Amino acid sequence: MTIAQKFAALTPERQENFKAIKDAAALDAFLNENNLALTDEEKAQALEYFKSGKLPLADEELDNVAGGCGSSGDTVCPVCGSSDTKTYGDAFPGLYIECKTCKHKWPVE
Ligand SMILES: [Zn+2]
Repeated sequence: MTIAQKFAALTPERQENFKAIKDAAALDAFLNENNLALTDEEKAQALEYFKSGKLPLADEELDNVAGGCGSSGDTVCPVCGSSDTKTYGDAFPGLYIECKTCKHKWPVE
């Protein structure tokens, strides 16, 4: 459980008490009072929160990394399987792809 999740599990009243904590001694008293346990690292995060006024982020938010944008759409020649192709032609009558390996040509779908 992350510190943010532990915080979210508190009643609103206790969350207000939590936000009012100003130092490590008050934090320990609060934890004892509510039967909560935090690691030293989590306590440090909590104290950081009391100073900055910002709630520590949940792990999910920290892990919210942008996904990769795959570029696996390479055109492959249907005759020889080569991906060394080029597109040419006009919008009308249409674009064509030419395989540089076997010179096969086919229309762009
Ligand atoms: Zn080819």
